[in-house]
Amino acid sequence: MKTFYKIPLYLDMDGTIVDTASQMDYIFNNYFVDENHWRVPMTDGRYDKSSSDFVELECKLDQIPGLFSYHIVEPMVGALSVIEKLVATGAYDLHIITTAPWYNQSAWTDKIEWVQHYFGRDPESPFYKKVHLTHNKHQVIQNEGILIDDRSAHGAGLWDNPLIGSVWIQYDYNNLVWDGKLETILLALAERFNAYDGVGQPPTRDLFHQVLKNDIHEKHHDEDDFTGITNDFPENVSKQPWEMLYT
Ligand SMILES: [Mg+2]
Repeated sequence: MKTFYKIPLYLDMDGTIVDTASQMDYIFNNYFVDENHWRVPMTDGRYDKSSSDFVELECKLDQIPGLFSYHIVEPMVGALSVIEKLVATGAYDLHIITTAPWYNQSAWTDKIEWVQHYFGRDPESPFYKKVHLTHNKHQVIQNEGILIDDRSAHGAGLWDNPLIGSVWIQYDYNNLVWDGKLETILLALAERFNAYDGVGQPPTRDLFHQVLKNDIHEKHHDEDDFTGITNDFPENVSKQPWEMLYT
């Protein structure tokens, strides 16, 4: 195992390691008034499914206080176990990179708490002091780094840059999910990386593309499918509620 260099691996939260979509679907189906009004159960000013105290909020769906709390949103299937395996390989320098809605202040603390709840608060956590909250993911691009993100928005798509060997893998495209091909290719890359003899530059870029070619042909859509709220909303909904994130 090499300690001088690890593969930078950046993980998005919503739609990649956090199942925010299910909860947004639930709210949409149960508490919808119109696209800017929601009548939701709340405790102490935060969304609380178990509360019998309903409050009408004037905001977008992703601006509901408490929505991103670990009390509310669960990990994606397989995310925790695969991340644990990736940590065990010793090949990856893991980071979280996520966007919190600008007008949802609780989201900013909820996201940190979510990471600490599931991975720990202490230096032993794989994400200890390695959480990036930003609307500009391209400003954190790493040479030879990998970003796993379900959307190209907020600079995520710009990670796919052959000039510096960085790549964007679109989560949930082409069976690139934690309990699908994603685990396979990331573990295969780690194995190849760990076999590197330590002489010269680490061959991350070449290795990655070899591993990728063997397993998949495309790692993301050509264009982003998510363009925000449709003008026809809600009478002719062409977007799912969770596709309205961060507009
Ligand atoms: Mg996402």
